[in-house]
Amino acid sequence: MALRFYNTLSQQVEDFTPASDNTVRMYTCGPTVYDFAHIGNFRTFTFVDLLRKCLRANGFQLNHVMNITDVDDKIIRNAVERRLTLDEYTKIYTDAFMEDCASLRLEVPETIAPATAHIPDMVDAIERLGVSHHTYASDGSVYFKIGSFPSYGKLSHNDFSGNLAGARVDVDEYEKADARDFALWKTPKEGEPFWDTAIGPGRPGWHIECSVMAIKYLGETLDIHAGGVDLIFPHHENEIAQSESLTGKPFSRFWLHAEFLMVEGQKMSKSLGNYYTLRDLVAKGHAPEAIRYLLASVPYRKALNFTVDGLKAAAIAIERLRNFKLRLETDRHAEGLNEKLEARTAQAAQSFSDSLNDDLNTAEALAAVFEFVRDTNSAMDAGEFLAGNAPAALRFFGAFDSIFKVLEPSAKAGELSDAAIEARVAERTAAKKARDFALSDRIRDELLEQGIVLEDTKAGVRWKRK
Ligand SMILES: [Zn+2]
Repeated sequence: MALRFYNTLSQQVEDFTPASDNTVRMYTCGPTVYDFAHIGNFRTFTFVDLLRKCLRANGFQLNHVMNITDVDDKIIRNAVERRLTLDEYTKIYTDAFMEDCASLRLEVPETIAPATAHIPDMVDAIERLGVSHHTYASDGSVYFKIGSFPSYGKLSHNDFSGNLAGARVDVDEYEKADARDFALWKTPKEGEPFWDTAIGPGRPGWHIECSVMAIKYLGETLDIHAGGVDLIFPHHENEIAQSESLTGKPFSRFWLHAEFLMVEGQKMSKSLGNYYTLRDLVAKGHAPEAIRYLLASVPYRKALNFTVDGLKAAAIAIERLRNFKLRLETDRHAEGLNEKLEARTAQAAQSFSDSLNDDLNTAEALAAVFEFVRDTNSAMDAGEFLAGNAPAALRFFGAFDSIFKVLEPSAKAGELSDAAIEARVAERTAAKKARDFALSDRIRDELLEQGIVLEDTKAGVRWKRK
């Protein structure tokens, strides 16, 4: 099945290929580094990671840019309060974000673009928008005139034609009912940091950074622009207005948006006590791969209800998959090849990739994996699975894990490495051979204390982390 996505702009599912050569030019909105990112943020970033991996599985190369919003209203407020420079303050949360991404196994985009490293590019774009009469200045700030862009509203599918010309808004985030001229450049308030530029002292608004950095690194028309649904309006609508006013070309061919995440059926909020950062969950003992699995398991266009039960079920599902893979690797099967099972594996692999190509239907892709595990376990129990069937089954599991990335356990601080465990297992085997059962039992108990379970089988010793 050809790869296809639901495009927010056309409101249709469309076949996807890059516009030119084999490279996907993709821009995704990154974090605003004023605090630790929460799991709602990570739902979107996990979706972007799955998107990258599926594009690559379809043979495309990636040129993906993600911004880091390291200047905005909240960052300035918090940095000033804590008597830190913007750089000192945002470095804390930028580093934390990159660590969190690594623990969730999210790939690093080809380019990470911090907004504050691109101020002259933004000033230049704002000047050019001025020359083409899309802006006006007021009290030292510069605003984008939405009345100068007739198709304003085409992404969020709102008719804003009735909005009063000249009404304007200074904050970065606002509701649909407040479609207003928005700030491209903000004059500094007393005590706020600012840049001294050709358009006066100040700092960029949030929206201009993405337009400027996307065009700078990826060209005038992107293949894909993605983010959370909360960004459709005003952020992405404003990005389109700015970019298309600058270039006269469509800004992005595809717009993909991940739905909201709720926690235990409710909107996540600090006041309800159901607000989680990734760190909160890991500190409670949840494995990052279980969190990744839960975030990835619901198709991105469906609201995701994140629950503790769901996290536990994710951990059990991963355990089942790991046990199955271990069985594939270590069970001894009779020689030969069962053609029927080989066809079953091929069908599972096809159904897996078709589901992902169908607008990243991760739930169906996982169903294909679990049906395959169930059928193959039965075939093994019945002695129908032959040695020649293992390579294709393992290849399919490899393809599954190249997308979902949950089979490898995360190392915890102070935990034994695989190599260290293998060495201890070999020591124990040698001790048993030498009939030193006291030593072999001691090694077994020591490993168990560290959460490593040994299992003696006809094929030798298997080990796994509890
Ligand atoms: Zn953006």
